[in-house]
Amino acid sequence: MTTRDPLDVLNRVFGYDEFRPGQQKIVDHVTSGGDALVLMPTGGGKSLCYQIPALARDGTGVVISPLIALMQDQVDALRALGVRAGFLNSTQDPDERRLTESQLLAGELDLLYLAPERLNLDATRRLLDRAPLALFAIDEAHCVSQWGHDFRPDYLALSGLHEQWPDVPRIALTATATKATHAEISERLGLDEALHHVASFDRPNIQYRIAPKNEPRKQLLDLLRTEHDGDAGIVYCLSRKSVEETAELLVRNGIDAVPYHAGLDAATRERHQARFLREDGLIVVATIAFGMGIDKPDVRFVAHLDLPKSVEGYYQETGRAGRDGLPSTAWLAYGLQDVMQQRKLIESSEGDQAHRRKLATHLDAMLALCETVECRRVQLLAYFGQDGEPCGNCDTCLSPPESWEGTVAAQKLLSTVVRLKRERNQKFGAGQIIDILRGKTTTKITQHRHDELSVFGVGSDLGDNEWRGVIRQLLATGLLAVEGEYGTLVTTPASDEVLYQGRKVHLRREPKRTATREKTKRA
Ligand code: ADP
Ligand code: ZN
Repeated sequence: MTTRDPLDVLNRVFGYDEFRPGQQKIVDHVTSGGDALVLMPTGGGKSLCYQIPALARDGTGVVISPLIALMQDQVDALRALGVRAGFLNSTQDPDERRLTESQLLAGELDLLYLAPERLNLDATRRLLDRAPLALFAIDEAHCVSQWGHDFRPDYLALSGLHEQWPDVPRIALTATATKATHAEISERLGLDEALHHVASFDRPNIQYRIAPKNEPRKQLLDLLRTEHDGDAGIVYCLSRKSVEETAELLVRNGIDAVPYHAGLDAATRERHQARFLREDGLIVVATIAFGMGIDKPDVRFVAHLDLPKSVEGYYQETGRAGRDGLPSTAWLAYGLQDVMQQRKLIESSEGDQAHRRKLATHLDAMLALCETVECRRVQLLAYFGQDGEPCGNCDTCLSPPESWEGTVAAQKLLSTVVRLKRERNQKFGAGQIIDILRGKTTTKITQHRHDELSVFGVGSDLGDNEWRGVIRQLLATGLLAVEGEYGTLVTTPASDEVLYQGRKVHLRREPKRTATREKTKRA
């Protein structure tokens, strides 16, 4: 096969002068027919790694992507550069599909975007068999990983590509890169012999911040007004209801914002996404249904009002900020309710014990990132198996949190839970436990005669907020657990180590509540 010069394609078609670090090696390898597995952060420049070899080689480059909603945009953008691109997915009418198919067979397509479920149809495979193929690009390749957070069963069938088309090179790409996901992609897609390129996952222009959650929506407003006035950004919420309410709140406060979640009809979702891509300074308030594959360079902030379920998810979502390399903010509000809620979600989730264990492992890593007193970036990179130095550009570097010896506090709390169970056969949530510790004589305390417990009032040295911090951190580290619909607190086997075996507990000191909070309280 004759090939064209990749650098020439880069210059002439894409108008860029040079390859970014890493791109050249990958492009050359795939252009000359080799397989590759590419792990690169969002914004790293993955698309060119397959687009250029597709143009440099004879035939059509087939791009497998789960992002059906974006295919039209991707194809339009390529056509604007003079690249002959098309797509096949379920949103097309039959005429469009037939046109694309005949272009493919006539060798008139440089790139063909294909949804994985299409590729698994016999008809599609027969079609591809009759067409000259330049390569297969498997985008969002982490979708093949059952260990990961975004598994798509249709991706499993991609392991058969090599058998059916042994001479067509394959390049798999993802922005998710734990060692486990990496290994699983390589194994499932048969890429052990391929060129593996693992880029640094550091995004130095993103400032990572995880704030204690007091009044999240008000904190969000403060953030937008003081630091991101008029900026484009994404606000992630867990529930559709919260998405709607938050978007309304922003609009009521004169901030340009639209909601996005799977409960909105397709036309509305498309309209909001298109506005976000086109307009300056629009905010999308969304569930995690939004954002995969969105290529908007000037997203200045990503805010999370609820805790992501995994570090991979957090990294991918925050990674949508600052693709242009300019300073950007990743801000997350995190509190006791988040831990309770996520633990309960896992407990009530479908699937077997192994599945729940997997979810719990993902959550534990996310919680460790939230509770760390070390540099967030170092911790984040370590999660992906990469080294880093304290960055000076995250909240813990900028104002190092204090830690304190919390063993006695932890013991007081755990023994309260133990006594309620042992002496009264009762379980309670965080609120009542804190009232007991602080010796408050509320109606609920007298009603249950909790003022007669020997632990009543033993924790009067700490305030509500501090006790909530203790509970949150014990939950985060598995020294305490939450149970049932009402979120009652129960001990774990590890609790015994603290109560009876001298295990020490170091806690992160709760930051003082800000003055703005006091003001709103009085108002
Ligand atoms: P990813 O898919 O890894 O998130 P993209 O492929 O969308 O990243 O690339 C991110 C941005 O960087 C795009 O705007 C792209 O045009 C630009 N880009 C990629 N490679 C180069 C290069 N060699 N020179 C200049 N810009 C580049
Ligand atoms: Zn740091």
